[in-house]
Amino acid sequence: MKNHIKNKSFETPFGDYTLVRIPDNDKNLFAWNAADRYLLKHLFSLQQSGNVDLAGARILILNDAFGALSVPLAQFSCDSYGDSFVSHSAIKQNILHCCPDALDKVTFLKSSDQFNGYYDIVLFKEIKNQAFLQEEMENIAQYIRADSLIIGAIMAKNLQKNTIKLLNNSIGETQASLAWKKARLLFVKPAPVAENHKKQTQITQYQLEQSGERIYSLANVFSRNKLDIGTRFFMQHLPQGKDYKAIIDLGCGNGILALKMAQQYPQAKITCIDESYMALNSAKMTLDENLPLAGRDIIYRAANALTDYPADSTDLIICNPPFHQQYVVGDAIAWQMFKQAKKTLLKGGELWIVGNRHLAYHLKLQKLFGNCQQIAANKKFVVLKTINN
Ligand code: SAM
Repeated sequence: MKNHIKNKSFETPFGDYTLVRIPDNDKNLFAWNAADRYLLKHLFSLQQSGNVDLAGARILILNDAFGALSVPLAQFSCDSYGDSFVSHSAIKQNILHCCPDALDKVTFLKSSDQFNGYYDIVLFKEIKNQAFLQEEMENIAQYIRADSLIIGAIMAKNLQKNTIKLLNNSIGETQASLAWKKARLLFVKPAPVAENHKKQTQITQYQLEQSGERIYSLANVFSRNKLDIGTRFFMQHLPQGKDYKAIIDLGCGNGILALKMAQQYPQAKITCIDESYMALNSAKMTLDENLPLAGRDIIYRAANALTDYPADSTDLIICNPPFHQQYVVGDAIAWQMFKQAKKTLLKGGELWIVGNRHLAYHLKLQKLFGNCQQIAANKKFVVLKTINN
């Protein structure tokens, strides 16, 4: 991971911090937004007026992307929860850079972890995926009391039509603040929960038309309700024939491509990699359900693409690359994946990808590997193969 700290200062009432984004490849993007600043400003004023005692409170932060909330609040101790390995790594890196002594005051909770005990303050950042937001809210409902302070921070343009309704129904009556620098705060008054309220896990599934396998997805997983059209196209043109021994599904999502490769290459070691914990758990459900697993070598790895993966270790990588990171659209992660694939592949190893035509991935692959073959194309997508010579 590139540890390049740019001179960008995040000024907050709790202190000024230099925070980086990961990946940090666009100097116009910041690791915080006005919603983070609005929330911290509000919290500080509550602290100043004696309405909250941050030092004595149990604080839970949900969906912090790069540490804009966790870094300033680390001094008070907090739990930082989310579904993203990349975000957790970014938050750790930013705490280490800004306030290393506070690192052991922050507990990182994955989306698969259980909460433990009541929280006095719950702060949540906007997320695009409403099913995931709903699941989070239903899950924390058991871990708050009537007087817990629950505040969301969101950029006004990202406030979806039914977000407030969703919050009303899943956790309690919600009111939006006035806008400040195009951001809003959402104030939630917790509703009482039934005593038998249990952790909610939304699992969706669909069945593949011809082969009939069931594909499982947790709430925060790509194309959870139906087969993505790019994935569908890739499935029609996956590698076959050659005797691959070590195969990586890079950005495995619900594991659908890994499943197809595992079926076709029963002797191969299969590694599913994703930065979403929910994706990895979904891939495991998909493969467990559809494969005779006895003796199978299948690994599930939470990682930022191929960072820290052994070099020269793999003879095939398949990848349907992501084209956005939360609200930011771009090819930065795909580019990172291609560059790292080159290091990870053995000599003669292959990278196969599917992508939207207009993204022109063939130019990137040609530049990096010196070769790129178009395996298939339709109006929208291309399947490309490149060899690590
Ligand atoms: N392979 C699945 C399919 O075809 O349905 C999912 C493809 S989806 C377009 C891209 C996947 O990449 C998502 O599951 C996303 O969580 C994952 N991803 C995004 N950024 C990543 C990163 N930095 N490292 C690893 N996986 C990442």
